[in-house]
This record gives sequence, structure tokens and C-alpha cells, in this order.
Amino acid sequence: MAVTFAPVADHILFGNVVTLDAQGTTAEAIALGGGKVLATGTREQVLRMRGSQTDVRDFAGSAIIPGFNDTHAHMDGVGIKTIRPSLAGAKSIRDILDRIAALAAQVPAGTWIVTMPVGEPPYYFDALAGLADKRMPTRQELDSVAPDHPVFLSSPNGFWGQPPCHSAMNTLGLKRNGIDRHSKPQANGIEIVRDAAGEPNGNFIEHNYVNMLERDLLPAVPRFSYEQRREGLRRAMHAYHAKGTTSIYEGHGNAPEILSACRDLHEHGELTMRMSLVVSPAWGSVAEAERVMRDWLPLVRGRGVGDAMFRVSGVFIAYGGDPCVTHIVQRNIPDVGWSGLIPQANTPEEFEQLCLLAACHDLRVHTVVSDKLHEIVPIMERIAAQYPIGARRWVLEHISVATSADLQRVKQLGVAVTLIPPHYLWKVGHRFLNLTPEQLDLLSPARALSEIGVPVAAGTDAVPYDPLFCMWAMTTRRERTTGRVMGAGGIVSNEAALRLLTTCGAWLTFEEQVKGPLASGCYADLAVLSGNPLTAGGDDLLALRCQATMVGGRWVYGES
Ligand SMILES: [Zn+2]
Repeated sequence: MAVTFAPVADHILFGNVVTLDAQGTTAEAIALGGGKVLATGTREQVLRMRGSQTDVRDFAGSAIIPGFNDTHAHMDGVGIKTIRPSLAGAKSIRDILDRIAALAAQVPAGTWIVTMPVGEPPYYFDALAGLADKRMPTRQELDSVAPDHPVFLSSPNGFWGQPPCHSAMNTLGLKRNGIDRHSKPQANGIEIVRDAAGEPNGNFIEHNYVNMLERDLLPAVPRFSYEQRREGLRRAMHAYHAKGTTSIYEGHGNAPEILSACRDLHEHGELTMRMSLVVSPAWGSVAEAERVMRDWLPLVRGRGVGDAMFRVSGVFIAYGGDPCVTHIVQRNIPDVGWSGLIPQANTPEEFEQLCLLAACHDLRVHTVVSDKLHEIVPIMERIAAQYPIGARRWVLEHISVATSADLQRVKQLGVAVTLIPPHYLWKVGHRFLNLTPEQLDLLSPARALSEIGVPVAAGTDAVPYDPLFCMWAMTTRRERTTGRVMGAGGIVSNEAALRLLTTCGAWLTFEEQVKGPLASGCYADLAVLSGNPLTAGGDDLLALRCQATMVGGRWVYGES
């Protein structure tokens, strides 16, 4: 008679286990071993896998869900924002000056003092309105507390702030950067504010989404160092784990500096987040792109390279963009500012040529669509006539407005889609308030895409990086400034939203056999939440807290 041995679990957890398997099974307990899920079931069933070394924990009243897979995470940006000293809580120019005086007392004269922006993190919305003075400090005011240190109060990025964004510099800082009454930016969208005599008063206003001020006009301001990038990633991983996130996919591309830093952390055993990254290329022309694809990118062809923790597959190719921005950014590499990617500028013709070249080299293309789905779909259809871009899992990201007809064409292409609901529905929803009800239903169209069977996943876009907020955005669709519901017909159920943020993302990285649901054989990646996200209605979702997070059978947050 054959004897079968039940596997012995490393961990047994009790709680309300929301497996998100195909049937939507829930269970009382889960057993984990070897970094994978062994089984779910009743307490009694799962306890049969208990051995002398098994760690048994009871999360009574809590929900145990698959770890979040944030498929538009901008994770590196969240960490790097903690590197410069914060001005949070400063309510007046006096408060700001006191902070600068304190910082100046800590470092020798001549050393740069560069702070985070004026305003309240994480968004810094309406920073000036939050100051009693309703304006930024002038260079003379900054000089009054730090005459011998170059000082720069930096400005937010459009990815997390809302242009126009304000910054300020003292006289020594201006001098170090050669800024005087004759200075003129190369990039559009930057203002050097001047006093009545025409001299720079130390204030700058940035209207660009991607910060151009430092790269265009302020070469002397210290950039983030490679070590700071690595430290930023460590802090970012911790912050995302604290929200229950166990995997990220960065389809907008990652600059060489970020790819290097992630790889470096992985090599040193420090990576606790499963990362799927995409090359953000810095080629200068279509001809150069062809050489780069042929000679330098063979490793990221097809499904790419990597392992269960760190993977790189394919390239990001932008549709549109400002050539001046690209030129200035490329001149500044490896400085990639806040965004962690390299902006490109491609005409529709160049975009098609680049996509065709990528297809020819079996490089998976990831592209940001925004409101250009109607222009991008015909291009993709022409490429799909020659290459199997659906089977290769090309990715269309960031869809904002769409028509049903175009979504059907996406379905025919067989490509994947990622969405950023908190961005389009909440953060910049005010831009879409004049759409018709039918158009609003298809804004950030998670529901329509799911219903027609397109592989779709959702990401936070780091606005904020809390997936429960993203879930709230999808299930309530409330706009930030008016609270209006942005298309009730686009609302998805709690379960659909949770799947979009957990199990659905694995398809983007060819991992659907091993990642996603809490089912036997899948990675032991999970989050413990203070309540049930399937039954928490509307704003109650925002009251849920992540209590603990596990990646590959190892606690990475909340428990040890
Ligand atoms: Zn993005």
C-alpha cells in the first residue's frame, strides 16, 4: 500500500482567508511551506500539516488576502521623496525660515541645503494657499537665515503634485547656478520670477509635468546619488509592504539608474518586493534604437530575464512627447529626477517605426495610452498583422477616455491593459467633468474591459500608493475636488476591484501559474487586513489597515 506524507507547513495562519481563486473560495486557515501556498481549508484540515517547527498564528477577525500586485507603482519615487529634509507642517514663511536656519546650523558653510517642496505631503496640492503669506520666500528672506549656504526649496513633480509647482532659491544658490537677469530657460513651462527691477527674486514656477527646472537651469543643485537611490528603494519597499503590496510592475519603464539600483539590491539579498521592470531607453533616433535593440537588448527579448523576485522584460516606447524635454533629460542622465524614467518624444510615425522594430526583435512593447487609444489602436493593428503582439503580451497602460468600439479592438489585439483609476477618476478627474455620462462610464474603463475579457489589471500610480485607496476609487469613482461620481456605469464590485489589484497582474509577467490567488502551488505572498475588503462598503474601505505582509513565506511587514 502506498504511503503518502502530508507536507509539513512552515506557517499556518487562521483568519478569513480570501483566496481569490477561480471560484472565489474563502477558508478559515491557510498553510504555507517552501515559500508557496500548501493548502487552504478548515482549521482542522490545515492543522494536519502542522509539524514541530510550524509557526501558527491566529488573525481572528482579520482578512488574509493575496498580496497586492501594484501594476503601475512608481515605487522608487516614493522612497526618494524621503531623502531630502521635509518642510511638512510649515505654515508660514517664518516657519520655513526657522527650518532652514536649523538645517544651516548642522552643515558647514558652502554646503547645499536642498529640501522637499513647500506644502503638505504626499501631494503638496495648493502649497501657497497653505502658507499664511500665500507666497514663497524670496531669495533675500532665505539669505536672512542662510547667507553662506546655497539653499533650494525644490518643487513637486506632476506625477505626485499638481502643476504649477513652486520652488525657491537664495542668492548664493542662484550665483552657483549662474542665474541672473539675463537667464532664460530652454524648456517651455519654466518661469523665473523677477522683482520690480527685473532681477530674479529667487522664485521659480514649473508648469511641466516632468520637472525641468533643475535639469534645464540648475546644474549646481546636487542630484540624488546612486547610494541615495538604493536607500530610496529600501524605504519604498518598506512603505509599499506596509500597504500590503508584494509585487510591482513598472510598465512606464525604468531608467538605467533605477534598474541598476534594483538589480544591485537583489544581488545583495535585500530585495523583498517582487519587481517586474521594463527598460526605459535613452536612444536618440530610430536608427540608434535599431542598433540598441539588436546589440544591447537581446536579454530582455520575449519574457525577458530574471527570477521570482526581479525580472526585466521588454521596452517602453512613448507615443508623443516634447523633443526639448527629451533632449534636456538625456543631457542629464544618469540624473532621472523624481520620475525614475526617461521621457521620450516620438511622432506617430516614429512610434510605429519603433514598435515595428521592437516586434521584429521580439521585444515586448509597453506604452502609455492616456487619451490616445483611438490613435494607438490602428498602429497596433498594423503591427499585429505581421507579429503576434497579443501572444507576446504587449501592454497598453494608463487608458483614460475610450470608446466601446476601440475597447473591442483592444480585445481583438489580445494585448494586456493596465489602468490607474486613482489618477484619472480622483486626482485629475476634474479634467473630465464635462464628459457625457456615457463617456464617463468608460473613463479608466476597468469594468468594460473586464466584461469583454481583456486581460486588465490596476495600479495605484502612487497617488497614493495604497491599493485600498485604488480599490475605493474603482468602487466609488469619486472625483477629488467635487466628490462627483465619475460614471456610475463604470463602478466595479469589491471582488472585481480586489482581483484587478491582486491576481490579475500576474498575466503581465507570464506568472499566472505561480502568482496571484492563495491556491496550492502559488507563491506565499499575502496581506493581512484589519477587515474584509469584499464586504467593506465605500468609504469603509479606507478605514481598513494592513496589519502584516508576507512575501514568499517570509514576513516583510508587521510580524516577524
Ligand atoms: Zn505613471
